[in-house]
Amino acid sequence: MATQQEILNATNEYIIPNYGQRMRAMVRGEGARLWDADGNEYIDLFAGFGGAGVCGHCHPVIVEAVRKQAGLLMAHGNFFTNEPQVELARRITEQAFGGKVFYCHSGTEANEAALKLMRLAAGPGRYKIITFENCFHGRSMGALSLTPGKYQTGFEPMLPGSVVVPYNNLAAVADAIDDETAGVLIEPIQGEGGINVPSKDFMQGLRKLCTDKNILLACDEVWTGPARTGKWFAHQHFDIQPDVMTLAKAIGGGMPVGACVAAPKYADVLGPGTHGCTMGGMPVCAAAGAATMKLIADENLVERAAQRGEKVAQAIRDANISCVKEVRGAGFFIGIQVDKPARDVFVAALDAGLFICPAREHVVRLAPPLTIADDLLEKGVGMVIDLLRR
Ligand code: PMP
Repeated sequence: MATQQEILNATNEYIIPNYGQRMRAMVRGEGARLWDADGNEYIDLFAGFGGAGVCGHCHPVIVEAVRKQAGLLMAHGNFFTNEPQVELARRITEQAFGGKVFYCHSGTEANEAALKLMRLAAGPGRYKIITFENCFHGRSMGALSLTPGKYQTGFEPMLPGSVVVPYNNLAAVADAIDDETAGVLIEPIQGEGGINVPSKDFMQGLRKLCTDKNILLACDEVWTGPARTGKWFAHQHFDIQPDVMTLAKAIGGGMPVGACVAAPKYADVLGPGTHGCTMGGMPVCAAAGAATMKLIADENLVERAAQRGEKVAQAIRDANISCVKEVRGAGFFIGIQVDKPARDVFVAALDAGLFICPAREHVVRLAPPLTIADDLLEKGVGMVIDLLRR
């Protein structure tokens, strides 16, 4: 087997450098642990950037579902359907707000579907989508147009109709709505923006405003769903229902699944011929997703995220670390605001055998698998506290 350095060198030679210099070459994962090609072990408190999902790396039930389905049928195209995709959609809609599901593979694609759905539902001439400062919705041109800031540099012009307002500010949203507005797209808790939690008044006001103005409310739950924040979906913290919800990362249990969920009123807006994705909903990924949703229910992972997450946040607050200005978030979606470069903490953590992640300049993020064993969690959080103290 190649050494880590050999794989890193080959990566530099053959792989486009859009992610910058890769830091490790990974070979194995189990629960909340990862191993690199030199055999070094890491505690993963970021769940493979959310992609390893809420059940951790290579959960045996998900691995078995993938193995079984891979031996039966992997792809058949969307003239046909399959049971795993129906099972996954049933589980999502039952825990969310009913309606129907469109499948793709990633968060950005799920948001492209939501954008098209919102424009189609709103009707001719209503094309504007309101999003928020510090949001993140993806890198494809539609989703990128809805993601203000540095991500757009060099790729202009953006899609017309993207309107950006401050997060958690209802008056700003009200001011921004006009006759050309199709809808609002919001992360119910911002992830890449630094784990920002809006107020319940704001989210409930936003729901009412969208209803009153007859525009759609879409929640981007690519990071926050399912179960991560201590609810099945983060919008449930605010006792509201969106018209559209987008999912990716954890919903595939380690396999690429993106989903755009439309509430009953909008469930048939994307009618025949309006949208598509050749590999969307194919049975191997869908089986992994369905197994994930079943595991979350069977193992009470929603409650576990809520309880353990609060304990972790409190432990970091109680440690009284001088560089820590705030600890915020919900469930296992935790942001630590620090007054030193968050990236330095991330790099030092990796060298110490711990995967955590920076957001913007000054936020350190924790998003462990919800299945992480208590002793491993304690060890990992202890390491985070030590690193922050340095
Ligand atoms: N929406 C949110 C809230 C995200 O955090 C991300 C990625 N971090 C995306 C969309 C894009 O997801 P993907 O990388 O799967 O396209």
